This record gives sequence, structure tokens and C-alpha cells, in this order.
Amino acid sequence: MPKVNKTDAEWRASLDQETYRVTRQAGTERAYSHGGFPSGAGTFACVCCGAELFKQDNKFESHCGWPAFDATIGDAPVGEKVDYDLGYARTEVHCDDCGAHLGHVFPDGPKETTGMRYCINGVSLRFTPEENK
Ligand SMILES: [Zn+2]
Repeated sequence: MPKVNKTDAEWRASLDQETYRVTRQAGTERAYSHGGFPSGAGTFACVCCGAELFKQDNKFESHCGWPAFDATIGDAPVGEKVDYDLGYARTEVHCDDCGAHLGHVFPDGPKETTGMRYCINGVSLRFTPEENK
């Protein structure tokens, strides 16, 4: 069971239309539609529930039109599920804490690191810069 349970009406009320469509209805934002994120150190969290999912260190430029990461944070609640929405198997990734759809993961990431590419909708993520210590 997800840790965060809200009704569909509650999600709809708490998210903007595009974020709701992507995260709660497994939508995909248009490639290059997201404005991007700051480049400094920080953490990317689930926009719906705040669970920390990715680090800036794992973000890389994939030129695919969506934010891409080569790994999740070690204990991040990122679940995977195979879908056939496009007629072939893809691995969908979502936040296990609230069920938010995040994007897909493909085995064509940077070979020098993990070889994985988490292709994530920008609207699914909230970026928090690391505080200056
Ligand atoms: Zn979540």
C-alpha cells in the first residue's frame, strides 16, 4: 500500500492540470516542454508527496527532451512496472510512496556509470538546492 493515499479529487485539487495528468494519469509531458532545473547540487523529490528520488549528481544530458538520471537515490521509493502502451515493453517508473507516475527507465544510459537512463517528466519532480553549509 502506498504511504500517501489521497482520493482522485484531492490530487486533482492539489496539483496543476499538467502535473495531475502526468503523475496521476500516467501522462507524458511534451519533449523539451519543461523549463529545466538549476544546475547546482541538490535533490529531486516527488512533486506529489515529497519523497526524495534523485540527486543532481546522477542527472545527465541525454538530449531526449526530458530530465534524465543514471540512478535513483539508494533507498528511494521508486517502483518499476512493465507497460505496453506503445505496443512494446517499456519499464515504467513511479513513486512507491504515493503512486505518482514519473517516467520510464531504459538500459541505454551512460556506459561509464550505470548504463541506465531514467527518463523522467520534469513536472513530476521538485528540485531542492542543497543548503550552503
Ligand atoms: Zn510520491
